[in-house]
Amino acid sequence: MSNVLRLAIQKSGRLSEDSLTLIKECGIDFNKSDNKLTSKAFNFPIEFLFLRDDDIPGYVEDAVADLGIVGQNVLEEKGKQANIVEKLGFSKCRLSIAVPKDYNYESIKSLEGKNIATSYPKILGDFLKKNNVSAHIHEISGSVEIAPNIGLAEGICDLVSSGSTLISNGLKEAETILHSQALLIANKNLSAEKTDLVNQLLFRIKSVQRAKNTKYILLNAPTSSVDTIISLLPGVKSPSVMPLAEEGWVSLHSVVKENEFWDIVEKLKAAGAEGILVMPIEKIVI
Ligand code: ATP
Ligand code: ZN
Repeated sequence: MSNVLRLAIQKSGRLSEDSLTLIKECGIDFNKSDNKLTSKAFNFPIEFLFLRDDDIPGYVEDAVADLGIVGQNVLEEKGKQANIVEKLGFSKCRLSIAVPKDYNYESIKSLEGKNIATSYPKILGDFLKKNNVSAHIHEISGSVEIAPNIGLAEGICDLVSSGSTLISNGLKEAETILHSQALLIANKNLSAEKTDLVNQLLFRIKSVQRAKNTKYILLNAPTSSVDTIISLLPGVKSPSVMPLAEEGWVSLHSVVKENEFWDIVEKLKAAGAEGILVMPIEKIVI
């Protein structure tokens, strides 16, 4: 039992699906039934605890769970002790202060003496203190965005992703306090055996993440352009170059960063590349 990792993930909500997808992409198989609170993987020594996200930092601090996947916003708000093992790149959002759209907002000082409704009293309180602003924090647990409309508060502090919820409630973003994403966190006192298992899991996670930003690229080019193209597509080690049946032409295979592809493609074409194919990669193990 002691050498089985326990990973706490959100039972249902905005972190759940991406957390489960990541586990599956790491090649870890398990059954999840809606009414079960735990599940054990078939092919890796790991067990899952399905919890409310708010409880995850505390469970990890208390070593009820060895690991957890939770938003940075919740980790900071709960003020619990845990190591951040890896930023997972999903559930990206920001914690912001918003005010009614016709509110005369000039700076954070505009909130002096005002009421602000939030589910994040700790993070907001720390932010106001750091800026020497004293405002009244109204802690409420949900539907924060309606607080100004019902006269509960002049401003709110809440999670924002696209901003459309703010707009539809007649609010505008005034300050961003925190940029958040999902984190893999770990108990601070893991045994050597469990640390070893965490490292095995992390190795898989990194292979999956590396692949997400990288595409496999194949193209045909005249032999005379190979040096130019290799300088544009250095690859993991170096590109594969294979002769085509047609004399003087090669097929070149490499990898390219997704966010750099459109910058590079024009240069590839200028160098004589033709028939460029770009394909997804599942994992990159290095
Ligand atoms: P629970 O029932 O587990 O307490 P919850 O209602 O508190 O769930 P969710 O709304 O599912 O929480 O959000 C979980 C986490 O997802 C948030 O703490 C935040 O890190 C992230 N998140 C919140 N809103 C968004 C969003 N609009 N887009 C992406 N991620 C978000
Ligand atoms: Zn929650």
